[in-house]
Amino acid sequence: MPAEANLSERRSYDVMVVGAGAIGLCCAWRASQRGASVVVLDRAHPPAGATRVAAGMLAPIGELAFGEPDLLRMTLDAGEMYPGFVAELETASELGTGYVQCGALHIALDRDEAAELRRVHDLQRALGLGAEWLPPRRCRELEPGLTPSFNGGVHAPAEAAVDPRRMTAALLAVLAAEGVELRGGVEVTEALIDGERITGVRTNADEELAAGAVVLASGAWSGSASWLPESAQPPVRPVKGQILELRAPDGQAPCERIVASERVYLVPRPDGRLIAGATTEERGFDSTVTAGGVHELLREAYRLLPDVAEMELLESMAGLRPGTPDNLPLIGRGALDGLILACGHYRNGILLAPLSGEAVAELLDHGELPESVAAADPERLSLTAGVAR
Ligand SMILES: Cc1cc2nc3c(=O)[nH]c(=O)nc-3n(C[C@H](O)[C@H](O)[C@H](O)COP(=O)(O)OP(=O)(O)OC[C@H]3O[C@@H](n4cnc5c(N)ncnc54)[C@H](O)[C@@H]3O)c2cc1C
Repeated sequence: MPAEANLSERRSYDVMVVGAGAIGLCCAWRASQRGASVVVLDRAHPPAGATRVAAGMLAPIGELAFGEPDLLRMTLDAGEMYPGFVAELETASELGTGYVQCGALHIALDRDEAAELRRVHDLQRALGLGAEWLPPRRCRELEPGLTPSFNGGVHAPAEAAVDPRRMTAALLAVLAAEGVELRGGVEVTEALIDGERITGVRTNADEELAAGAVVLASGAWSGSASWLPESAQPPVRPVKGQILELRAPDGQAPCERIVASERVYLVPRPDGRLIAGATTEERGFDSTVTAGGVHELLREAYRLLPDVAEMELLESMAGLRPGTPDNLPLIGRGALDGLILACGHYRNGILLAPLSGEAVAELLDHGELPESVAAADPERLSLTAGVAR
Protein backbone atom coordinates (compact mmCIF):
# COMPACT_ATOMS: atom_id res chain seq x y z
CA MET A 1 0.00 0.00 0.00
CA PRO A 2 1.27 3.51 -0.69
CA ALA A 3 2.39 5.00 2.64
CA GLU A 4 1.14 8.52 2.12
CA ALA A 5 -2.02 10.07 0.81
CA ASN A 6 -1.49 12.09 -2.34
CA LEU A 7 -3.21 15.43 -1.88
CA SER A 8 -4.42 15.39 -5.47
CA GLU A 9 -6.39 12.20 -4.72
CA ARG A 10 -10.11 12.43 -4.40
CA ARG A 11 -11.76 12.99 -1.01
CA SER A 12 -15.17 11.48 -1.60
CA TYR A 13 -16.05 7.84 -2.29
CA ASP A 14 -19.01 5.55 -2.53
CA VAL A 15 -17.43 3.13 -0.06
CA MET A 16 -14.71 3.53 2.55
CA VAL A 17 -13.23 0.43 4.18
CA VAL A 18 -11.41 0.87 7.50
CA GLY A 19 -8.92 -2.00 7.81
CA ALA A 20 -6.93 -3.79 5.13
CA GLY A 21 -7.02 -7.30 6.55
CA ALA A 22 -8.52 -10.23 4.66
CA ILE A 23 -12.04 -9.02 5.42
CA GLY A 24 -11.60 -5.40 4.41
CA LEU A 25 -9.75 -6.29 1.21
CA CYS A 26 -12.40 -8.81 0.13
CA CYS A 27 -15.18 -6.30 0.83
CA ALA A 28 -13.31 -3.65 -1.17
CA TRP A 29 -12.70 -5.98 -4.11
CA ARG A 30 -16.29 -7.12 -4.41
CA ALA A 31 -17.70 -3.58 -3.94
CA SER A 32 -15.33 -2.23 -6.60
CA GLN A 33 -16.31 -5.01 -9.01
CA ARG A 34 -19.90 -3.79 -8.70
CA GLY A 35 -18.87 -0.32 -9.82
CA ALA A 36 -18.40 1.52 -6.51
CA SER A 37 -15.54 3.97 -5.99
CA VAL A 38 -13.67 2.51 -3.02
CA VAL A 39 -10.93 3.63 -0.64
CA VAL A 40 -9.25 1.33 1.89
CA LEU A 41 -7.53 2.86 4.92
CA ASP A 42 -5.14 1.09 7.24
CA ARG A 43 -3.01 2.66 9.93
CA ALA A 44 -0.32 0.06 9.40
CA HIS A 45 1.86 -0.14 6.33
CA PRO A 46 1.81 -2.89 5.26
CA PRO A 47 -1.36 -4.13 7.03
CA ALA A 48 -0.44 -5.72 10.36
CA GLY A 49 -3.53 -7.32 11.80
CA ALA A 50 -4.48 -10.94 12.47
CA THR A 51 -4.42 -11.71 8.75
CA ARG A 52 -0.62 -11.30 8.72
CA VAL A 53 -0.09 -14.05 11.30
CA ALA A 54 -2.97 -16.44 10.54
CA ALA A 55 -2.22 -20.06 9.68
CA GLY A 56 -4.69 -19.97 6.81
CA MET A 57 -6.50 -23.22 7.53
CA LEU A 58 -9.76 -23.47 5.62
CA ALA A 59 -11.18 -26.06 7.95
CA PRO A 60 -14.92 -26.01 8.65
CA ILE A 61 -14.83 -29.61 9.89
CA GLY A 62 -11.78 -29.19 12.10
CA GLU A 63 -13.18 -26.01 13.63
CA LEU A 64 -16.59 -27.62 14.27
CA ALA A 65 -17.79 -27.05 17.83
CA PHE A 66 -20.91 -28.24 19.60
CA GLY A 67 -23.77 -25.74 19.53
CA GLU A 68 -22.59 -23.60 16.63
CA PRO A 69 -24.75 -24.71 13.67
CA ASP A 70 -24.95 -21.23 12.11
CA LEU A 71 -21.18 -20.87 12.11
CA LEU A 72 -20.81 -24.34 10.60
CA ARG A 73 -23.21 -23.46 7.77
CA MET A 74 -21.29 -20.27 7.03
CA THR A 75 -17.86 -21.92 7.15
CA LEU A 76 -19.02 -24.78 4.91
CA ASP A 77 -20.44 -22.29 2.39
CA ALA A 78 -17.19 -20.31 2.53
CA GLY A 79 -15.12 -23.47 2.04
CA GLU A 80 -17.12 -24.29 -1.09
CA MET A 81 -16.52 -20.79 -2.44
CA TYR A 82 -12.75 -20.94 -1.97
CA PRO A 83 -11.56 -22.80 -5.08
CA GLY A 84 -13.45 -20.38 -7.33
CA PHE A 85 -12.36 -17.40 -5.26
CA VAL A 86 -8.64 -18.21 -5.36
CA ALA A 87 -8.79 -19.14 -9.06
CA GLU A 88 -10.32 -15.72 -9.83
CA LEU A 89 -7.86 -13.93 -7.55
CA GLU A 90 -4.79 -15.72 -8.89
CA THR A 91 -5.82 -15.08 -12.49
CA ALA A 92 -6.64 -11.42 -11.90
CA SER A 93 -3.49 -10.70 -9.85
CA GLU A 94 -1.13 -13.11 -11.62
CA LEU A 95 0.07 -14.04 -8.12
CA GLY A 96 -0.17 -17.31 -6.20
CA THR A 97 -2.02 -17.63 -2.90
CA GLY A 98 -0.55 -20.93 -1.69
CA TYR A 99 -4.04 -22.47 -1.78
CA VAL A 100 -3.99 -26.24 -1.55
CA GLN A 101 -6.73 -28.73 -0.79
CA CYS A 102 -4.44 -30.86 1.33
CA GLY A 103 -6.96 -32.45 3.71
CA ALA A 104 -6.57 -32.69 7.49
CA LEU A 105 -5.80 -35.46 9.95
CA HIS A 106 -6.88 -34.97 13.57
CA ILE A 107 -4.92 -37.21 15.90
CA ALA A 108 -5.84 -38.55 19.35
CA LEU A 109 -2.57 -38.94 21.25
CA ASP A 110 -4.03 -40.89 24.21
CA ARG A 111 -7.23 -42.57 25.37
CA ASP A 112 -8.78 -39.41 26.78
CA GLU A 113 -8.17 -37.55 23.55
CA ALA A 114 -9.55 -40.53 21.60
CA ALA A 115 -12.79 -40.42 23.61
CA GLU A 116 -13.16 -36.69 22.93
CA LEU A 117 -12.27 -37.04 19.24
CA ARG A 118 -14.84 -39.83 18.84
CA ARG A 119 -17.48 -37.58 20.41
CA VAL A 120 -16.69 -34.86 17.87
CA HIS A 121 -16.57 -37.43 15.07
CA ASP A 122 -20.05 -38.67 16.04
CA LEU A 123 -21.28 -35.11 15.57
CA GLN A 124 -19.46 -34.84 12.24
CA ARG A 125 -21.14 -38.04 11.07
CA ALA A 126 -24.56 -36.98 12.33
CA LEU A 127 -24.18 -33.79 10.27
CA GLY A 128 -23.09 -35.74 7.19
CA LEU A 129 -19.65 -34.11 7.06
CA GLY A 130 -16.83 -35.74 5.11
CA ALA A 131 -14.72 -37.18 7.92
CA GLU A 132 -13.62 -40.76 8.55
CA TRP A 133 -12.25 -42.39 11.73
CA LEU A 134 -8.97 -44.18 11.00
CA PRO A 135 -6.90 -46.56 13.18
CA PRO A 136 -3.25 -45.59 13.80
CA ARG A 137 -1.91 -47.80 10.99
CA ARG A 138 -4.10 -46.07 8.38
CA CYS A 139 -3.18 -42.65 9.76
CA ARG A 140 0.51 -43.52 9.45
CA GLU A 141 -0.01 -44.65 5.87
CA LEU A 142 -1.24 -41.13 5.16
CA GLU A 143 1.40 -39.38 7.27
CA PRO A 144 4.48 -41.57 7.86
CA GLY A 145 6.10 -38.85 10.01
CA LEU A 146 3.54 -39.27 12.80
CA THR A 147 4.67 -40.26 16.28
CA PRO A 148 4.83 -44.09 16.69
CA SER A 149 2.28 -44.22 19.48
CA PHE A 150 -1.23 -42.77 19.35
CA ASN A 151 -4.84 -43.89 19.47
CA GLY A 152 -6.31 -43.10 16.06
CA GLY A 153 -7.44 -40.14 14.06
CA VAL A 154 -10.09 -38.48 11.91
CA HIS A 155 -9.35 -37.79 8.26
CA ALA A 156 -11.16 -34.87 6.62
CA PRO A 157 -9.96 -34.87 2.99
CA ALA A 158 -11.80 -31.73 1.86
CA GLU A 159 -10.08 -29.34 4.27
CA ALA A 160 -7.69 -26.88 2.65
CA ALA A 161 -5.22 -24.12 3.42
CA VAL A 162 -4.08 -20.84 1.93
CA ASP A 163 -1.11 -18.60 2.72
CA PRO A 164 -2.76 -15.44 4.11
CA ARG A 165 0.25 -13.23 3.40
CA ARG A 166 0.36 -14.30 -0.24
CA MET A 167 -3.41 -13.91 -0.47
CA THR A 168 -3.10 -10.37 0.95
CA ALA A 169 -0.44 -9.51 -1.63
CA ALA A 170 -2.69 -10.83 -4.40
CA LEU A 171 -5.68 -8.87 -3.09
CA LEU A 172 -3.64 -5.65 -2.82
CA ALA A 173 -2.42 -6.15 -6.39
CA VAL A 174 -5.86 -6.76 -7.80
CA LEU A 175 -7.35 -3.81 -5.92
CA ALA A 176 -4.62 -1.48 -7.19
CA ALA A 177 -5.23 -2.73 -10.74
CA GLU A 178 -8.97 -2.07 -10.35
CA GLY A 179 -8.37 1.53 -9.26
CA VAL A 180 -9.27 1.05 -5.60
CA GLU A 181 -7.40 3.62 -3.54
CA LEU A 182 -5.21 1.94 -0.93
CA ARG A 183 -3.94 4.20 1.80
CA GLY A 184 -1.45 2.69 4.22
CA GLY A 185 -0.20 4.49 7.33
CA VAL A 186 -3.52 6.30 7.61
CA GLU A 187 -5.35 5.98 10.90
CA VAL A 188 -8.99 6.85 11.26
CA THR A 189 -9.32 9.09 14.30
CA GLU A 190 -12.85 10.48 14.13
CA ALA A 191 -16.17 9.78 12.48
CA LEU A 192 -17.91 12.59 10.60
CA ILE A 193 -21.53 12.38 11.60
CA ASP A 194 -24.58 14.22 10.36
CA GLY A 195 -27.60 13.46 12.54
CA GLU A 196 -27.84 9.66 12.64
CA ARG A 197 -25.63 9.14 9.59
CA ILE A 198 -21.89 8.62 9.27
CA THR A 199 -20.75 10.67 6.29
CA GLY A 200 -17.01 9.99 6.39
CA VAL A 201 -13.99 10.09 8.65
CA ARG A 202 -11.12 12.29 9.78
CA THR A 203 -7.65 10.76 9.69
CA ASN A 204 -4.47 11.22 11.72
CA ALA A 205 -3.28 13.55 8.95
CA ASP A 206 -6.31 15.74 9.81
CA GLU A 207 -7.77 14.97 6.42
CA GLU A 208 -11.53 14.66 5.97
CA LEU A 209 -12.72 11.90 3.64
CA ALA A 210 -16.38 11.55 2.72
CA ALA A 211 -18.14 8.30 1.86
CA GLY A 212 -21.62 7.04 1.14
CA ALA A 213 -20.89 4.03 3.35
CA VAL A 214 -18.15 3.26 5.87
CA VAL A 215 -17.26 -0.41 6.35
CA LEU A 216 -15.78 -1.19 9.76
CA ALA A 217 -13.32 -4.00 9.01
CA SER A 218 -10.80 -3.25 11.74
CA GLY A 219 -10.53 -6.78 13.10
CA ALA A 220 -9.85 -7.00 16.85
CA TRP A 221 -9.75 -3.19 17.06
CA SER A 222 -13.35 -2.84 15.86
CA GLY A 223 -14.72 -3.05 19.42
CA SER A 224 -12.47 -0.27 20.65
CA ALA A 225 -12.87 2.00 17.63
CA SER A 226 -12.97 5.10 19.82
CA TRP A 227 -13.40 7.21 16.68
CA LEU A 228 -17.01 5.98 16.63
CA PRO A 229 -19.63 6.98 19.20
CA GLU A 230 -19.63 4.41 22.01
CA SER A 231 -23.08 3.16 21.05
CA ALA A 232 -21.77 2.29 17.58
CA GLN A 233 -18.74 0.29 18.75
CA PRO A 234 -19.51 -3.41 18.23
CA PRO A 235 -18.85 -6.04 20.93
CA VAL A 236 -15.56 -7.32 19.52
CA ARG A 237 -12.66 -8.26 21.78
CA PRO A 238 -9.08 -9.30 21.03
CA VAL A 239 -8.19 -12.97 21.58
CA LYS A 240 -4.44 -13.48 21.41
CA GLY A 241 -2.91 -16.31 19.42
CA GLN A 242 0.79 -17.21 19.21
CA ILE A 243 2.05 -19.12 16.20
CA LEU A 244 5.37 -20.38 14.77
CA GLU A 245 6.85 -20.79 11.33
CA LEU A 246 9.36 -23.61 10.78
CA ARG A 247 11.36 -24.87 7.83
CA ALA A 248 12.78 -28.32 7.15
CA PRO A 249 16.48 -28.54 6.25
CA ASP A 250 15.63 -30.51 3.08
CA GLY A 251 12.78 -28.18 2.13
CA GLN A 252 10.21 -30.98 2.68
CA ALA A 253 7.55 -30.32 5.32
CA PRO A 254 7.16 -33.36 7.64
CA CYS A 255 3.49 -33.76 6.67
CA GLU A 256 1.42 -33.40 3.50
CA ARG A 257 -1.84 -32.45 5.12
CA ILE A 258 -2.92 -30.41 8.12
CA VAL A 259 -2.06 -32.53 11.17
CA ALA A 260 -3.71 -31.55 14.43
CA SER A 261 -4.13 -32.70 18.01
CA GLU A 262 -6.23 -31.20 20.79
CA ARG A 263 -3.44 -28.72 21.54
CA VAL A 264 -1.75 -27.82 18.28
CA TYR A 265 -2.26 -27.76 14.52
CA LEU A 266 0.46 -28.05 11.91
CA VAL A 267 -0.12 -26.60 8.47
CA PRO A 268 2.34 -27.44 5.66
CA ARG A 269 3.02 -24.80 3.02
CA PRO A 270 3.71 -25.86 -0.59
CA ASP A 271 7.30 -24.48 -0.29
CA GLY A 272 8.20 -26.78 2.65
CA ARG A 273 7.50 -24.42 5.56
CA LEU A 274 5.36 -25.61 8.45
CA ILE A 275 3.08 -23.41 10.54
CA ALA A 276 2.49 -24.48 14.15
CA GLY A 277 -0.40 -22.83 15.93
CA ALA A 278 -1.90 -21.54 17.98
CA THR A 279 -2.41 -20.51 21.58
CA THR A 280 -5.73 -18.97 22.66
CA GLU A 281 -5.31 -16.30 25.32
CA GLU A 282 -7.56 -13.60 26.76
CA ARG A 283 -4.90 -10.90 27.31
CA GLY A 284 -6.52 -7.78 25.92
CA PHE A 285 -4.34 -6.07 23.33
CA ASP A 286 -1.10 -7.70 24.53
CA SER A 287 0.56 -9.25 21.51
CA THR A 288 3.94 -10.28 22.90
CA VAL A 289 5.42 -13.64 22.01
CA THR A 290 6.19 -15.49 25.25
CA ALA A 291 8.68 -18.25 26.05
CA GLY A 292 5.79 -20.27 27.49
CA GLY A 293 3.72 -19.94 24.34
CA VAL A 294 6.59 -20.96 22.07
CA HIS A 295 7.51 -23.85 24.39
CA GLU A 296 3.95 -25.18 24.41
CA LEU A 297 3.63 -25.05 20.62
CA LEU A 298 7.00 -26.72 20.01
CA ARG A 299 6.36 -29.42 22.65
CA GLU A 300 2.95 -30.30 21.22
CA ALA A 301 4.19 -30.16 17.62
CA TYR A 302 7.03 -32.54 18.54
CA ARG A 303 4.60 -34.94 20.22
CA LEU A 304 2.75 -35.26 16.91
CA LEU A 305 5.60 -35.11 14.40
CA PRO A 306 8.98 -35.84 16.01
CA ASP A 307 10.84 -34.56 12.91
CA VAL A 308 9.85 -31.06 13.99
CA ALA A 309 12.89 -31.17 16.29
CA GLU A 310 15.18 -30.93 13.27
CA MET A 311 13.42 -27.94 11.76
CA GLU A 312 14.65 -24.37 11.70
CA LEU A 313 12.52 -21.95 13.68
CA LEU A 314 11.98 -19.11 11.23
CA GLU A 315 9.55 -16.84 13.02
CA SER A 316 7.39 -16.59 16.12
CA MET A 317 4.41 -14.26 16.02
CA ALA A 318 1.35 -13.27 17.97
CA GLY A 319 -1.89 -11.88 16.60
CA LEU A 320 -5.27 -10.78 17.86
CA ARG A 321 -8.36 -12.64 16.71
CA PRO A 322 -11.53 -10.54 16.64
CA GLY A 323 -13.82 -12.42 19.05
CA THR A 324 -17.55 -11.83 19.57
CA PRO A 325 -19.89 -12.93 22.41
CA ASP A 326 -21.34 -15.83 20.35
CA ASN A 327 -18.32 -16.56 18.10
CA LEU A 328 -20.29 -15.51 15.02
CA PRO A 329 -19.03 -12.60 12.94
CA LEU A 330 -20.85 -9.28 12.70
CA ILE A 331 -21.84 -8.61 9.09
CA GLY A 332 -24.51 -6.03 8.33
CA ARG A 333 -25.76 -2.60 9.30
CA GLY A 334 -24.20 -0.90 12.31
CA ALA A 335 -25.74 1.53 14.77
CA LEU A 336 -25.36 4.56 12.45
CA ASP A 337 -26.90 4.98 9.02
CA GLY A 338 -24.19 4.32 6.46
CA LEU A 339 -22.08 2.24 8.88
CA ILE A 340 -21.57 -1.36 7.80
CA LEU A 341 -19.96 -3.90 10.13
CA ALA A 342 -17.62 -6.54 8.70
CA CYS A 343 -15.80 -7.69 11.80
CA GLY A 344 -15.69 -10.28 14.59
CA HIS A 345 -14.53 -13.20 12.44
CA TYR A 346 -12.64 -14.73 15.37
CA ARG A 347 -10.92 -18.03 14.40
CA ASN A 348 -12.26 -18.21 10.84
CA GLY A 349 -11.61 -14.84 9.21
CA ILE A 350 -9.43 -16.18 6.43
CA LEU A 351 -11.97 -18.87 5.61
CA LEU A 352 -14.95 -16.50 5.80
CA ALA A 353 -13.34 -13.59 3.91
CA PRO A 354 -14.76 -14.35 0.42
CA LEU A 355 -18.23 -15.00 1.83
CA SER A 356 -18.16 -11.82 3.93
CA GLY A 357 -16.84 -9.75 1.01
CA GLU A 358 -19.69 -10.92 -1.24
CA ALA A 359 -22.25 -10.31 1.48
CA VAL A 360 -21.09 -6.77 2.21
CA ALA A 361 -21.00 -5.91 -1.50
CA GLU A 362 -24.53 -7.27 -1.87
CA LEU A 363 -25.72 -5.21 1.10
CA LEU A 364 -24.07 -2.06 -0.28
CA ASP A 365 -25.51 -2.68 -3.73
CA HIS A 366 -29.05 -3.85 -2.97
CA GLY A 367 -29.60 -2.94 0.68
CA GLU A 368 -30.20 -6.57 1.64
CA LEU A 369 -27.96 -8.99 3.50
CA PRO A 370 -27.86 -12.35 1.69
CA GLU A 371 -29.43 -15.35 3.41
CA SER A 372 -26.01 -17.05 3.60
CA VAL A 373 -24.88 -14.65 6.34
CA ALA A 374 -28.25 -13.86 7.93
CA ALA A 375 -27.07 -15.41 11.21
CA ALA A 376 -24.23 -12.87 11.34
CA ASP A 377 -26.58 -9.87 11.23
CA PRO A 378 -25.55 -7.53 14.06
CA GLU A 379 -29.23 -7.06 14.87
CA ARG A 380 -29.07 -10.29 16.85
CA LEU A 381 -27.05 -8.41 19.50
CA SER A 382 -29.40 -5.39 19.42
CA LEU A 383 -26.62 -3.35 17.90
CA THR A 384 -28.92 -1.02 16.10
CA ALA A 385 -30.45 0.00 19.42
CA GLY A 386 -27.19 0.39 21.35
CA VAL A 387 -24.43 -2.01 22.15
CA ALA A 388 -24.85 -5.34 23.91
CA ARG A 389 -21.52 -6.32 25.48
C1 LIG B 1 -2.60 -17.05 15.52
C2 LIG B 1 -3.82 -16.97 14.65
C3 LIG B 1 -4.10 -18.00 13.77
C4 LIG B 1 -5.23 -17.95 12.96
N1 LIG B 1 -5.48 -18.96 12.08
C5 LIG B 1 -6.56 -18.90 11.25
C6 LIG B 1 -6.80 -19.92 10.32
O1 LIG B 1 -6.03 -20.89 10.23
N2 LIG B 1 -7.90 -19.82 9.50
C7 LIG B 1 -8.76 -18.76 9.57
O2 LIG B 1 -9.74 -18.72 8.83
N3 LIG B 1 -8.55 -17.76 10.47
C8 LIG B 1 -7.47 -17.81 11.31
N4 LIG B 1 -7.26 -16.82 12.23
C9 LIG B 1 -8.24 -15.75 12.36
C10 LIG B 1 -8.04 -14.69 11.29
O3 LIG B 1 -6.68 -14.33 11.26
C11 LIG B 1 -8.90 -13.46 11.58
O4 LIG B 1 -10.24 -13.82 11.82
C12 LIG B 1 -8.86 -12.51 10.36
O5 LIG B 1 -7.54 -12.30 9.95
C13 LIG B 1 -9.52 -11.21 10.69
O6 LIG B 1 -9.33 -10.38 9.56
P1 LIG B 1 -9.76 -8.86 9.62
O7 LIG B 1 -9.55 -8.32 8.25
O8 LIG B 1 -11.11 -8.74 10.24
O9 LIG B 1 -8.76 -8.19 10.69
P2 LIG B 1 -7.20 -7.91 10.66
O10 LIG B 1 -6.48 -8.80 9.75
O11 LIG B 1 -6.78 -7.87 12.09
O12 LIG B 1 -7.09 -6.44 10.04
C14 LIG B 1 -7.60 -5.31 10.70
C15 LIG B 1 -6.84 -4.10 10.20
O13 LIG B 1 -7.48 -2.92 10.69
C16 LIG B 1 -6.49 -1.94 10.86
N5 LIG B 1 -7.02 -0.89 11.76
C17 LIG B 1 -7.50 -1.05 13.03
N6 LIG B 1 -7.92 0.14 13.50
C18 LIG B 1 -7.72 1.06 12.52
C19 LIG B 1 -7.96 2.48 12.43
N7 LIG B 1 -8.51 3.19 13.43
N8 LIG B 1 -7.62 3.11 11.28
C20 LIG B 1 -7.07 2.42 10.23
N9 LIG B 1 -6.83 1.09 10.29
C21 LIG B 1 -7.15 0.42 11.41
C22 LIG B 1 -5.31 -2.72 11.46
O14 LIG B 1 -4.08 -2.04 11.26
C23 LIG B 1 -5.40 -4.05 10.69
O15 LIG B 1 -4.51 -4.09 9.59
C24 LIG B 1 -6.11 -16.83 13.04
C25 LIG B 1 -5.81 -15.78 13.90
C26 LIG B 1 -4.68 -15.84 14.70
C27 LIG B 1 -4.34 -14.68 15.60
